[in-house]
Amino acid sequence: MTRLSLKKIPTILWFFGAAVLAGSIYMETSSLMETEGLFWTANTVMIALFTYYGGFYGGILYLLLLSGIYLVTGIFSTPNDLSVQNLFPYVIGLFISFSIGILGWKIRTNEVHLNKLFENNDITFWTWDLENDEHTFSEGYAKIYGVTRESIRDNPYHWKDVVHPDDKYMLMDAHEQQKAGKKTNITYRFFHSSGEVRWLQDSATPHLDRNGIVTRVDGVILDITNQKQAEQKMNQLIHYDSLTGLTNRVWFKNYLDTALISTNKYGRSVAVMFIDFDNFKRVNDTLGHSAGDQLLIRIANRLKSFLRESDIVSRQSGDEFLVLIENRNLDEIEQLAKDIITKMNEPYSINSTEIISTPSIGISINLDYEDDAEALIKKADFAMYLAKENGKNNYQFYNDELNQKMKRKMILETYLHKAIELNELTVHYQPQFDLASYHIVGAEALLRWECEMGKIPPDEFIPIAEETGLIIPIGEWVLRQACQDVKRFKANGLETFPISVNISTRQLMAPNFIERVQTIIEEEQVNPKLLTLEITESAFLYYEDAKENILALRNLGVGVSLDDFGIGYSSLSMIRNIEIDELKIDRSFLNDSIKNNRVRSLLEAIIQIGKKINTKVVVEGIETKEQIDILTVYDVLGQGYFYSKPLPIEEFEDWCLQAKKKAKSF
Ligand code: C2E
Ligand code: MG
Ligand code: MG
Repeated sequence: MTRLSLKKIPTILWFFGAAVLAGSIYMETSSLMETEGLFWTANTVMIALFTYYGGFYGGILYLLLLSGIYLVTGIFSTPNDLSVQNLFPYVIGLFISFSIGILGWKIRTNEVHLNKLFENNDITFWTWDLENDEHTFSEGYAKIYGVTRESIRDNPYHWKDVVHPDDKYMLMDAHEQQKAGKKTNITYRFFHSSGEVRWLQDSATPHLDRNGIVTRVDGVILDITNQKQAEQKMNQLIHYDSLTGLTNRVWFKNYLDTALISTNKYGRSVAVMFIDFDNFKRVNDTLGHSAGDQLLIRIANRLKSFLRESDIVSRQSGDEFLVLIENRNLDEIEQLAKDIITKMNEPYSINSTEIISTPSIGISINLDYEDDAEALIKKADFAMYLAKENGKNNYQFYNDELNQKMKRKMILETYLHKAIELNELTVHYQPQFDLASYHIVGAEALLRWECEMGKIPPDEFIPIAEETGLIIPIGEWVLRQACQDVKRFKANGLETFPISVNISTRQLMAPNFIERVQTIIEEEQVNPKLLTLEITESAFLYYEDAKENILALRNLGVGVSLDDFGIGYSSLSMIRNIEIDELKIDRSFLNDSIKNNRVRSLLEAIIQIGKKINTKVVVEGIETKEQIDILTVYDVLGQGYFYSKPLPIEEFEDWCLQAKKKAKSF
């Protein structure tokens, strides 16, 4: 019932309408009352027709025009006729013709809609007359199948011939069900006349006669190719890794879960290999991301190339891949791990650079037939970490010992989340000495954690904190604590010396690290010169990003020390590129230099390097008088158990005050 409906009134009807109305005016004004009945009938017919074509507004329009004429002409010519009794039959007549028009209009519009539906490109309605075994289709058939109407007449079973061979059984099965009086709804593929494989959805309803026998089946076929293609695209996006074309972790987990249902039930073996490629991060950082991407593609292809068809390779994330192997014994699995290591050790040539990316493999097997996919993947992941710890480029099976380790790690992880809140963290201090003058020149803040599980060594909980990201709040807590202790030492009469705080790489690379350090220093109101931040060499793997942060730290006024110097792989190139304030020589140099002259020469050389580039040199791990004797000639700083172990703050303060007295009495 829109105004637009008026446009649907045929022009000829406007002419007739105008003629009848004009006739009515003439009749009214010239009092030709004998033709009144004729015109009245003509007007009611007009109202019905105008409503039929123009809908509600069409009828109303005509009614208004008619009423207008009778009001203007009728009132002046026959005023007495306007009584209610006189008008009543007219009003009833008009109402009836208007209603008939509306009814007709509704039927007509519905029919138009229905026709449109039948002519729709993607739909065809069909009927199957079972008595004559005859199929008839609506117009849409030709469009859907890409054929002409004539060709259907020539081959009434064309629709059957073009069904995809793999889906034919579905159609046959549906026909059987329809014959048995059941409704069906199936989706199948067919070959379009262009050769393209397209998708149809075919729903059918059987009609039964009074005896319950199916005489006819009515159905509708929809071309759902676009919908299917969109689904497939989504599927691709959800389940495939766009870079390597391999399936992704979501798919792998779902697949493994399904596979485990039957393998666990029938006691067959399933092994998951978690493969992480060593040095990948370095490739990315030194040769750029596109080289990194190329390497990943090559790794994926190489992995696929020598695994069996039935083995599955998926990309977990970054440089981590998952392999699923079914029905193989332990020896075969181990052999495969060895093969992977051998094959993956061959170099790749990317952008004319030869790259070797060795694999570290963790393997878990469904030995107890209880694990779900998540658990198996986690175990393989954990075993992979052990492979890394054991020097990378090797494989490790998940075993009971690992199980205990993993459980402990998981428990510690949960406890560590609450460590700050529960006041379980403390900082111990270990003094640093000027070996020549026997003066305290600094102290290293070393974090300690005691929880329900007892005292946990930093080497165990720091990696967990780094992995979980907890190192960020914990590291800030240590830094703030150190700032407060700087003030406390001064208040308690200790000599003034800088405190060294260990900073993990993850902290250093955190986006707002510099601002956080600055805020803490400002809030605690300490002189930044009294803080030294110790950074390990691993930070320099991320050299480009680390460089700016180290510069910014030095601009804040804090000292930067390179911890465990000499054991990383690029010690020299680092100090070549970044100015630092202090070198802390790893304790292994001093330890080995007693028995090994070569190491001793190296230690001397490193000390000389430090002196030449004007940094402080601290030797770690001094434990014996013999070691001190080696070092005194070099005028270096030292730290170690020989002087003092790291001490709780009160003990450390007492120790320092005692040392101060001793120094005075010298
Ligand atoms: P590090 O920074 O190299 O610290 C020196 C480690 O050597 C300390 O171990 C210290 O107790 C130990 N040590 C000192 N003198 C001797 C000695 O004469 N002989 C021997 N054998 N060892 C000595 P600790 O306290 O167990 O800390 C281990 C590592 O944990 C530290 O190595 C550091 O990398 C990390 N760490 C400790 N506290 C923190 C912290 O607050 N934040 C971060 N990110 N790491 C920390
Ligand atoms: Mg340190
Ligand atoms: Mg160290």
